[in-house]
Amino acid sequence: KTEAGSDNVVVIGLGRFGGQVAESLLFLGHEVMGVDENTRIVQQWSDRLTHVVQADSTDEDALTQVGIREFSRAVVGIGTDIEASVLTVLTLSELGMPEIWAKAISVKHGKILTSVGADHVIYPEATMGERVARLIASRLLDLVDLGDGDAIATVRPPEDAIGRTITDLGVRTTYGVTIVGIKTPGAGIEWATPQTVVPDGCALIVSGSIDQVQRFATA
Ligand code: ADP
Repeated sequence: KTEAGSDNVVVIGLGRFGGQVAESLLFLGHEVMGVDENTRIVQQWSDRLTHVVQADSTDEDALTQVGIREFSRAVVGIGTDIEASVLTVLTLSELGMPEIWAKAISVKHGKILTSVGADHVIYPEATMGERVARLIASRLLDLVDLGDGDAIATVRPPEDAIGRTITDLGVRTTYGVTIVGIKTPGAGIEWATPQTVVPDGCALIVSGSIDQVQRFATA
């Protein structure tokens, strides 16, 4: 195995999802190779990514030829064509790709992807739909799932919290969440102390379990 830079990622299937993943990874400083079987799409991306190659990703030889072994991480953005998605993950798995991320369009599709070797399965529509519902239904602004049920989130403070100190709110006792800091638009982050007063228009930065954070955000 080469010293596959952990900064190098291959993105297979440059549709709406894969294209966005590729573009964002590039923006975040990673080298990205894009793979798509569609010549027109390969042309569209040719001057935007580090490398773009035309290949059928279900074909082991084709993947080997484009230098897939140089990479330690792959994202499979193929969704609509479930067969191509599954065969691509299987092929990557058989080629020994250390880390495989794949998009699924249904729960069953996701289960198959896991069974043929995907390490991480993403459900873009389901995840986004759930996130939007949470944003609408609560004071939750954003949530980062840290795994193991833990989260860091930004939450709009309840009306009656404005002007009170963190100690006074007692959210740790009531909800089990910890207020880590306060972010006010236009100002930086103020790290919370027991005496910190909650200003109007701010977002509370809180940590806790996902359940605790959600209970606090909807209380
Ligand atoms: P999205 O909904 O995110 O646009 P699609 O499933 O419609 O996702 O797009 C998948 C992309 O993957 C398309 O650009 C298509 O050309 C490409 N693709 C599909 N099958 C293969 C394959 N076997 N090898 C390489 N690329 C493929």
